[in-house]
Amino acid sequence: MARIDPLPAFPTKLLIDGKWCDGADGGTITVANPFDGEALAEVAIATAADVDRAVEAAARAFPAWRALAAHDRGRLLLKLADAIEADTANLARLEALDTGHPIRDCLSLDVPRTVLCFRYFGGMADKLEGSVVPVDAGFLNYVEREPIGVVGAIVPWNFPLMFTSWKLGPALAAGNTVVIKPSEITPLSTLRIGELMQQVGFPDGVINIVTGYGHDAGQRIAEHPGIGKVAFTGSTATGRRIVEASATNLKKVQLELGGKGPNIVFADANLPAAVGGSAFAIFHNQGQACIAGSRLILHETIADAFLEKFVALARSIRLGDPLDPQTEMGPLTSRLHQERVLSFVEVAREQGGDVLTGGRAPVNAALAAGCFVEPTIVRAQPDHRVAQEEVFGPFVTVLTFRTDEEALAIANGTEYGLGAGLWTQDITRAHRFAKQIHAGMVWINSYKRVHPGSPFGGVGRSGYGREMGFEAMREYTVAKSVWVNV
Ligand code: NAD
Repeated sequence: MARIDPLPAFPTKLLIDGKWCDGADGGTITVANPFDGEALAEVAIATAADVDRAVEAAARAFPAWRALAAHDRGRLLLKLADAIEADTANLARLEALDTGHPIRDCLSLDVPRTVLCFRYFGGMADKLEGSVVPVDAGFLNYVEREPIGVVGAIVPWNFPLMFTSWKLGPALAAGNTVVIKPSEITPLSTLRIGELMQQVGFPDGVINIVTGYGHDAGQRIAEHPGIGKVAFTGSTATGRRIVEASATNLKKVQLELGGKGPNIVFADANLPAAVGGSAFAIFHNQGQACIAGSRLILHETIADAFLEKFVALARSIRLGDPLDPQTEMGPLTSRLHQERVLSFVEVAREQGGDVLTGGRAPVNAALAAGCFVEPTIVRAQPDHRVAQEEVFGPFVTVLTFRTDEEALAIANGTEYGLGAGLWTQDITRAHRFAKQIHAGMVWINSYKRVHPGSPFGGVGRSGYGREMGFEAMREYTVAKSVWVNV
């Protein structure tokens, strides 16, 4: 495969205190294109010492940033949103090259949602009001929301651009300064955001970007005594490590972790809508989404008719070069991850699962260098590993039920609780299930809707804390109660 020429624009160094610099030990990470394995960039490795420098810079920048009028912080975020929008073509290409997301998705979802997020929190900056509490006679009590200080943000590789905005938007709007670590696998779009932030005039040290490995830079962020809060998106296993490391200074922790999304299709569902929505639920972004509808739970009376259409749809998905506008599904984001996803096919078979389609890398020679996995549909039982463990790929486990009680038991039968889908025309049942399902988000006759105004997060092993909306502003602030003897 020929090299992509020219590459989109992006920096490759660490951003600390407004300067682009090498890491303390001078090392670099090779960032590769998952479509052809070609190196895209050598990006500086941040070590624990670099995180320390970044935290010092963020701490120095904090007093002036919090003292800035809230609408001025908001104005910078709005300018950033405009700059990202103007950079759409560049950022979309960058994200497609680095992650394998199809360019059509980068143009229609990743970049616009990033813009929307910064715009939302830019507008939110001066809307975070305090309150006056009726207390004892002779006293005035008012409550202010104050920023926490330096926030550490750690993001994964599946939606690097969007998740950068989900962390930076509310944290900065609320008056915090930030040290952010993108995944070592996909750091490029976060670096480009840093460059745009400098261009629109964010003060030095307000945003610091440390591109390093989890066990070193990430671990240091989690344990750093100068960081007041860690906002983490990633796996449940890493989330646990972060909680342990955060105990050093009892920092606030927000965890957006894994999922095993139940997507229930009842007998009365609008089948064409449910088939299309369920395909989007699992196959969008190659299934690499924490909220993916990875357990398709079908009423037994419609299962065969549903699966006939669903399998046909899965087989019709166009796999290809992420930069090709016709491509509907790109490669997975790394070779290691491709191997992990494929290993679940054997896991499924060993326990008696039935692979209805996919279950392998495509045989097409033009795709051989890419980390592809064919859209995979497996019929299994609720206690099988593929119905319990997060695969995080284009791999959906089909389960069937007879009664509503059984559907609910299956849906709630994992340790996770993030997103859930319901397809039915019975409005009473829809609301009853929405109440009873163990999840942070429920979609009725749709799946995977997100908006910066609507709280996002999970329960159980899917984590705690909420991104987006007023909830996020509360997460990135602390309440201060002031008593005045009047
Ligand atoms: P991961 O946990 O391996 O890595 C996530 C980030 O944590 C990376 O930046 C990594 O460098 C860093 N990290 C790794 N070890 C660390 C440590 N010891 N201390 C501090 N940081 C460390 O996850 P991943 O493989 O990049 O992402 C996939 C996972 O993320 C899946 O489980 C998925 O469900 C989850 N995810 C959750 C959400 C959500 O909002 N709930 C969203 C997307 C992805």
